[in-house]
Amino acid sequence: MGNPLPWYHRGLKFQCTGCGDCCTGAPGYVWVNKKEIQTMAEALGITISVFEEHFVRRVGVRKSLIERPNGDCIFFSGKQRNCRVYEARPLQCRTFPFWTSNLRSEKAWKELSAHCPGCNRGPLFSCRKIESQRRKKTV
Ligand code: SF4
Ligand code: SF4
Repeated sequence: MGNPLPWYHRGLKFQCTGCGDCCTGAPGYVWVNKKEIQTMAEALGITISVFEEHFVRRVGVRKSLIERPNGDCIFFSGKQRNCRVYEARPLQCRTFPFWTSNLRSEKAWKELSAHCPGCNRGPLFSCRKIESQRRKKTV
């Protein structure tokens, strides 16, 4: 007997409105690996060590982007309401909102939808596409 179909087997709609809510607010972690750090440093035209000094914090054996005291990601521009490294942003940001935690139940997705206006609007992502996003290993 195969695994039962996930509750989102018909796909889910998503289109980011650019509101920036997922880059701000309550404290959290944006995990980054060596390659992601290198990509962002290159995008900003600075060295890896300068990037790490200004934008990265150590959390145990892992590394996360620094947050401002109000919980905003260090790369979120409050004025323009956008990401300063958008094209080079880490995988964790690229795969949002199709994270296992948001997909574990319909209820979890509904709760997320209350905070992310991009959910349930725009193009339909197939179950296969969602799964490929969900399975991407971040850090
Ligand atoms: S909360 Fe949702 S709609 Fe707003 S920026 Fe994040 S992903 Fe986009
Ligand atoms: S790196 Fe960019 S997309 Fe990711 S949390 Fe920070 S501001 Fe948002």
